[in-house]
Amino acid sequence: MSLNETYDPDNIFAKIVRGDMACVQLYETDDILAFMDVFPQSRGHCLVIHKKADATNLFDIDASALAGLAGAVQKVATAVKTGLKPDGVRIAQFNGAPAGQTVFHLHFHIIPIYEGEALGVHAAGGPAPAETLEPIAAAIRAAL
Ligand code: AMP
Repeated sequence: MSLNETYDPDNIFAKIVRGDMACVQLYETDDILAFMDVFPQSRGHCLVIHKKADATNLFDIDASALAGLAGAVQKVATAVKTGLKPDGVRIAQFNGAPAGQTVFHLHFHIIPIYEGEALGVHAAGGPAPAETLEPIAAAIRAAL
């Protein structure tokens, strides 16, 4: 998908926002949703999205909504840091398929880094079952 593609309201994250698809939720406000990445690259890999901006990518959202989203990324990343005690935290965000974007609803990745542990491959492998993600999510939620 190109950088100028129109927003598709039937993308996976839009379905999650509408409640048409399940997620392991971490944090929700009127505007923001954070949930566990179902193909985690590390223990605690999670995603933060804007629920209302209908933005395909970073170029498709107004600055005030983006500021709110950035604040939520910081809040959830802080809970990941406190709750899971990783050695580092990577924040990632991809724009356009050539850059690695696979879901065309703007999102930020929060990827905990543990020294000596290699990251999994981006958006690949089998989906993690909710039972595996839930206790990790509980540790993050407890730190929010
Ligand atoms: P990106 O490639 O930057 O667009 O990232 C999309 C992310 O969404 C990847 O890390 C996927 O593992 C993740 N993902 C795909 N489908 C789901 C889903 N149903 N629930 C949670 N995460 C998902």
